[in-house]
Amino acid sequence: MPASSASSAASAPSRLDRLVRVGETHVGRGVFARRRLKADIVLGEILGEILADHPEDSSYVMELPSCKLLEPAAPLRFLNHSCDPNCEIFYWEAEPGTVQEDRLWLQTIRPIEPGEELLIDYSWPADAAIPCRCGATGCRGWICDPAELHLVENQADE
Ligand SMILES: [Zn+2]
Repeated sequence: MPASSASSAASAPSRLDRLVRVGETHVGRGVFARRRLKADIVLGEILGEILADHPEDSSYVMELPSCKLLEPAAPLRFLNHSCDPNCEIFYWEAEPGTVQEDRLWLQTIRPIEPGEELLIDYSWPADAAIPCRCGATGCRGWICDPAELHLVENQADE
């Protein structure tokens, strides 16, 4: 398919790009605050590609309210996990006539200082859990949904 040159509008940095940047962490790339962020503000939508099936080779996919999957694009693709997160993903309840179920958004849950890494709780199901080294005081030991943690701990004992 030939590339279209019709849409040549040079886009200014998005609001999200003015708030966060991608940087290096000890577990690969991460997302960091460029400036002080207040608690309970919406940082932006998690943009990406919507997939019907789980890709074999991605550890970034997020489940949508519709049960389809979102392969997030940068920068929010690089959000790392913490058992004591400072951000969370949410979606808007669909209003009549609007379809919001395939969109996810990121919001802060407490104030974040400039240079601090933005972290979310992946809450993976037990069958996807991996050991967690987030270093939080309340670290659960596994990147896992708290409601399914007992399943992982049972497996680990066997
Ligand atoms: Zn942890």
